[in-house]
Amino acid sequence: MTFIDQWLRSDIRNINAYHVPSAKNMLKMDAMESPFGVPEELKDEFLEYISRSEVNRYPDASAEELQATLRSLMGIPKDFGVLLGNGSDELIQLLSLACSSGDSIMSFEPSFVMYELVSKFAQLNYHGIPLDENFDIDLNATLLAIKTKKPKLIFIAYPNNPTGNAFDYDVIREIIQSTDALVVLDEAYYAYSERSFLTEIDNFSNLVVLRTISKIGFAGLRLGLLVGSEETIEQLNKLRLPYNINILTQVSANFLLKDSQRIVSNAKIIMNERGRLYDELSLIPELTVYSSQANFLLVKSDNAKSLLESLKESGILIKGFAIGTQLENFIRISVAEAKENNVLLECIKDYYG
Ligand code: PMP
Repeated sequence: MTFIDQWLRSDIRNINAYHVPSAKNMLKMDAMESPFGVPEELKDEFLEYISRSEVNRYPDASAEELQATLRSLMGIPKDFGVLLGNGSDELIQLLSLACSSGDSIMSFEPSFVMYELVSKFAQLNYHGIPLDENFDIDLNATLLAIKTKKPKLIFIAYPNNPTGNAFDYDVIREIIQSTDALVVLDEAYYAYSERSFLTEIDNFSNLVVLRTISKIGFAGLRLGLLVGSEETIEQLNKLRLPYNINILTQVSANFLLKDSQRIVSNAKIIMNERGRLYDELSLIPELTVYSSQANFLLVKSDNAKSLLESLKESGILIKGFAIGTQLENFIRISVAEAKENNVLLECIKDYYG
């Protein structure tokens, strides 16, 4: 027996690590990143701006300027609290730290894997309520599960990853009303979606909204935010590690997020491309394409595994799902720029001959 074998909590040994495939020299269409980097004409000014950061000092612990920038970009009312995380992943983990041992976390299946993973890290029970055949919420099953499992936390990805749909708004309201759990509306894809629960924070004391800047062009900065009532955020803030948002992230985000018009117009480009990809892929009889309110498309194909391999050989990375799981015959494609989407379309059309 090795040292780590006898030292480690045995349940950690059984956790499958979050897998990130190598993307060297590949066209990345697997992780819902934005294809748009720092605009060429802003690069010099951006470098000048970040070079003024005092990296010998700790960053602003409450990241006040950044909070103001985010509030203005996302229209977050003054009387809501905002908690910043090193990516929204960190905030998902922080929420699990607020639970007591024996508590349950609830979400839906399939949904974002991190909800279950953090439950395991924190030794909490996880209940994934199956979505129906259209990947919508089964309200009766959910209300029953809330009654019997009494979850402490409910994560609802809105729109959902990996399915791309936004669940019924009123169904979600009913869920929030029916529970004492803290309900986390994870709006990672808010920029590509029709509706948001942000303003509902006023109506429900057990609602918080989670967002990230990863999907609107800044995944490399690792910055997420949790929005809730001032009181809720003040208490949760105690679990945040000091200085969790590093100085380069703070200054970069302050500079880049002020250009809100560009962010909105980039999102529009992606939504147009999403529509075009949807239409083109739907013409291929072997594929079933699901409509999406996010910057990716879920596609069903009986040849999912071989299609994925063929795209990989052509230098395109898309997301597949493990054999034996509900989504084994599906792929998830992140929408990119027209040029990149055309390369993908060509390869898929070639594959189906
Ligand atoms: N929530 C959802 C629904 C996601 O799909 C993702 C990333 N794939 C995240 C949260 C995490 O985003 P980040 O940690 O980059 O902010």
